[in-house]
Amino acid sequence: ARSYASAFQSSAPSSAYAAKPDASGNYTVSLIPGDGIGPEISQSVKDIYTAAKVPIKWEEVDVTPVLKNGKTSIPEDAIISIKKNTVALKGPLATPIGKGHVSLNLTLRRTFSLFANVRPCVSIQGYKTAYDNVNTVLIRENTEGEYSGIEHEIVDGVVQSIKLITYDASERVARYAFHYASEHGRNKVTAIHKANIMKMSDGMFLQACRAVAKEYPKITYDEDLLDRACLRIVQNPEPYADQVMVMPNLYGDILSDMCAGLIGGLGLTPSGNIGKDASIFEAVHGSAPDIAGKGLANPSALLLSSLMMLRHMNLFDKAEQIEKAILGTIAEGKHITGDLGGKASTQEFTDRIISKL
Ligand code: NAD
Repeated sequence: ARSYASAFQSSAPSSAYAAKPDASGNYTVSLIPGDGIGPEISQSVKDIYTAAKVPIKWEEVDVTPVLKNGKTSIPEDAIISIKKNTVALKGPLATPIGKGHVSLNLTLRRTFSLFANVRPCVSIQGYKTAYDNVNTVLIRENTEGEYSGIEHEIVDGVVQSIKLITYDASERVARYAFHYASEHGRNKVTAIHKANIMKMSDGMFLQACRAVAKEYPKITYDEDLLDRACLRIVQNPEPYADQVMVMPNLYGDILSDMCAGLIGGLGLTPSGNIGKDASIFEAVHGSAPDIAGKGLANPSALLLSSLMMLRHMNLFDKAEQIEKAILGTIAEGKHITGDLGGKASTQEFTDRIISKL
C-alpha cells in the first residue's frame, strides 16, 4: 500500500487558508462535537492533539437547531465562531426523519457555501481489504445537482425533483479539483458524468471542466461515464491511483461511498468541505446511535479528517506525526476497535495512538 500521506501531502501551502496564529502561536478552530458517538470521537481527537502538542485551541460550538423566521437553523453563535475561525472540525449530526426538518449538514453547507466535498480514499497499510492499491481522491460538487432541494408534486402521484447545474458552480469545483491535484502532486483529473443521457446538465458540467483543464496544461484531463467508472474501479482500482476525480453532487455521494468500501468502510474515511470563507472537516460516517455512549466507536475517520484540516492549515509536521501514530496502531492490529475486527475501546485505541506519538 502507498503512504496515506500521498493523498494529503501538499507541496505548496494551501492558499485557501487565511487564519493566522495568535500572539502565543495558537490557532483557534471551531469544534462541533456532534450527536451519538460524536462527543466520544471528538474527545479522542482532543486527547491526541493535547498529547502531540498541536497549537490549536478548540472553540466548542453548539449547533442544536434554533427557530429562525419559523424555520430550523443553526444558532448564531456557531455561525459567528466558524466565520471568525474559518476552519471547523465536525462530529456527525443526526438528521431527524420526516417533513419540516432541514438537515443541519445541508444548512452548514449552504450557510458557508461549502462548494467542494473532498474525499480521499486510500488503502490503509496493515488493514486488509480486497485491494491494497486504492489511492484516489474524489471531489464532489456540494451545492446543487439533484440535491438542490427543488421538489414539487405536480398532480397527485407525480413528483418532480429538479436537477440544477450551473456553469459557475461547475467551474468553481473543477478549478478546485485542478488546484488540489497540482498542490498534491496528482497528475490527472477525470470528470465523472452521464452526459450521454443528460446532455445539457452534465454536458455543461463537462464544458466547465474542459475550460478549466486548459489552465492546467501539466495535468492530464480525462472524462469517464459514472457507470463505467464504477465497474472499472471495483474490478481494479490501480488505473485510478494518483488522480483526482471530479463530479456533480449525487454521483459523488454514491461513488465516494463505493470507494470507501474498497478501503475498509466509513470508519476509515475522512472528508473536507471546502468553502470560500470557511472549511469544515468531518468523518463521512453518521452518529452511530446503535453504539453511542458505549465506548466502542472508532475515532479514525474524524482523526484522519482532522489531519486533512491540519494540512489545510499548513501544519504539516503535526499532521505527519499523528498520522504515523494512527496508521501504526491500525497496522499493529492489537488495539483496534470492533468495527476493524479488534476488541479495544475508543479509549484504549486512543491511548495506543498517544503512546506512538
Ligand atoms: P452511521 O454511519 O451512523 O452508522 C452505520 C453503521 O456503522 C452503524 O452500525 C454504526 O455503528 C457503524 N459506525 C459508524 N461510524 C462508526 C465508527 N466511527 N465506529 C464504529 N462503528 C461505526 O449511519 P446511519 O445509522 O445511517 O445514520 C445515523 C445518523 O447519522 C442519522 O441520523 C443520519 O442522518 C446521520 N448521519 C450524519 C452524517 C453527518 O453528520 N455527516 C452522515 C451520515 C449520517
